[in-house]
Amino acid sequence: MRYAEYYRRSIEQPEAFWAEQAVLIDWHRPWDQVLDGSRPPFTRWFVGGETNLCHNAVDRHVLVRGNQPALVWESTEVDQSRIYTYVDLHREVQRMAAVLAGQGVSQGDRVLLYMPMIPEAVFAMLASVRLGAIHVVVFGGSAAASLSTRIDDARPKVVVSSDAGSRAGKIVPYKPLLDEAIERAAHKPPSVVMVDRGLHAFKPVAGRDVDYVKACAQAGDHPVVPCVWVDSTHPSYILYTSGTTGKPKGVQRDTGGYAVALAASMRDIFCGKPGGVYFSTSDIGWVVGHSYIVYGPLLHGMTTLMYEGTSLHPDAGTFWRLVEKHRVNVMFSSPAAIRVLKRYDLEFMRRHDLSSLERLFLAGEPLDEPTLRWAEDALRKPVMDNYWQTETGWPILGIPSGVEALKANPGSPGVAMPGYDVRLLHETTGAPVPVGVNGVVTIRWPLPPGCIQTVWGDDERFVATYWNSVPGQQVYSTSDWGVVDARGYVTILGRADTPGRANDVIYVAGHRLYTRNLEESLSSHPAVAEVAVVGVADAVKGQAVVAFVVPRDLARTGDAGWRTGLEADLKQTVQAQLCAAARPERVYFVGRLPRTQSGKLLRRSIQALCEHRDPGDLTTLEDPLALTHIRDALAQQGEQATTAG
Ligand code: AMP
Repeated sequence: MRYAEYYRRSIEQPEAFWAEQAVLIDWHRPWDQVLDGSRPPFTRWFVGGETNLCHNAVDRHVLVRGNQPALVWESTEVDQSRIYTYVDLHREVQRMAAVLAGQGVSQGDRVLLYMPMIPEAVFAMLASVRLGAIHVVVFGGSAAASLSTRIDDARPKVVVSSDAGSRAGKIVPYKPLLDEAIERAAHKPPSVVMVDRGLHAFKPVAGRDVDYVKACAQAGDHPVVPCVWVDSTHPSYILYTSGTTGKPKGVQRDTGGYAVALAASMRDIFCGKPGGVYFSTSDIGWVVGHSYIVYGPLLHGMTTLMYEGTSLHPDAGTFWRLVEKHRVNVMFSSPAAIRVLKRYDLEFMRRHDLSSLERLFLAGEPLDEPTLRWAEDALRKPVMDNYWQTETGWPILGIPSGVEALKANPGSPGVAMPGYDVRLLHETTGAPVPVGVNGVVTIRWPLPPGCIQTVWGDDERFVATYWNSVPGQQVYSTSDWGVVDARGYVTILGRADTPGRANDVIYVAGHRLYTRNLEESLSSHPAVAEVAVVGVADAVKGQAVVAFVVPRDLARTGDAGWRTGLEADLKQTVQAQLCAAARPERVYFVGRLPRTQSGKLLRRSIQALCEHRDPGDLTTLEDPLALTHIRDALAQQGEQATTAG
């Protein structure tokens, strides 16, 4: 089928279109109405229908593919692996559900997970939705302060946690952080179910902490815990956005719409085949983990590979070893992860048999062309960008290869996905911008199934945050800048949250520059492995372009002559490719860049350090040392860089 027709139908006849997709999941009771749009900008999908996410992800597969692996767990942190077939998963989920029910969890209660990447985390998510409860996954290892604000916002009845996680071989104790968070919080969860991995000894809190293994033993070997049929619009989970200041913002997701949208995306975008193997390198703490480690692959009857570990531990071939070992068909990672691997010898990849792999999907931040080309050349497989947000739960832009093999357009994640009426609007007038002109990426109401229902407990905040930016128009703002071409391919330029002070947009002497274009230009230079560009306050020009570059050959950074030559070369590259205003004022060489644990560059903190301000809340920083690299570079190289200009 031609995608243009498919897409047009999803926009012009959303009810008919989504009713057709809804057969991808089981319904206990059919819906009365496909879309209740009586209270825009809210949407209620499949109203009156009853279903259950766990039934659709697990139970319904037991008869047809019971002996197929459902969940494969690999950990290079503790050197273990486990395989659970659908029959095994069904049993484990019911055990966890029995434990949760034993702690009083029932429909509508919140279950907060503060867990490492272990199978029990998946059991707990599935067990929650099985009971009609609402899970709230907080990234394992998050600081006590941010965990406590989430506990107070979600008010969980039970917390499921573990003694510790591990990162690149280093134990990260979770229990002290959890205890401190509960101590700080006003809401005291009545019980904490502890999965003890034996990594870090802890003292249980009497009357509150429950040992998972003991609780399972009490529940019996094969407890039978039926799925609770819930309304399609019943919340399945809350996931907090990565914002670190102020009151946390909980994205609330429904049940039926989410299941339908994910199932359709597995077929149309990710081209997964039931029985095949899906490997997402994300973490269950992020939206990609929710949608494409847990629910998407399982809803689609695939085997999902869950990995605890980093891409470089024990070596740069880790991902590819897993692809070979488990015959992975579809892989999902981030541009940041690939940029890191790009620094290592291709042999780490080439020594593995990757013939099973059909496609690699990348999302989370702009995919620059050099990284895309490198991955495609190295893998000799299609590498597909896709663009979305925690709020949408599944891709807004992508290539719908399962419908029509549209050609990808490097630099752009692709075209609007079914149900997303994407419009690029002028940031102040709200008028549509012409092809080739930058605008704010917005989506017209109604958002398709699977997207944010509301902000947990705060409908007003949902409307004010997302729907009020364009006067007189009912559009959802993604807060991203973008540009569209004549064929409908959108390129994302960066965040638009705070015009003027936005960290993805730099204003130099009246020119508006996008960090994305600047970074892409710099990374086209063969000596560059990674780069971050920020705008730094400048008395004359308003802002100045400052670049932090991780060279491919780190060993040479000690050589001042080499640095000076490369800096001049890089400035010239940008000037030639973009314009004179874009020429970086300074280029600093660093060993690594600060990223959040979900792989996003912390430009805001880099900018703050450059302007001698406080770098802000760093609890989501992946590697605290990375900011030290920036500080050191600013201190040591400042003088040389100025004179090299
Ligand atoms: P999060 O909600 O944390 O997943 O972050 C969503 C944001 O990440 C988006 O609003 C974009 O700014 C950025 N993003 C995600 N995917 C892409 C992509 N493929 N290309 C460019 N930016 C992306």
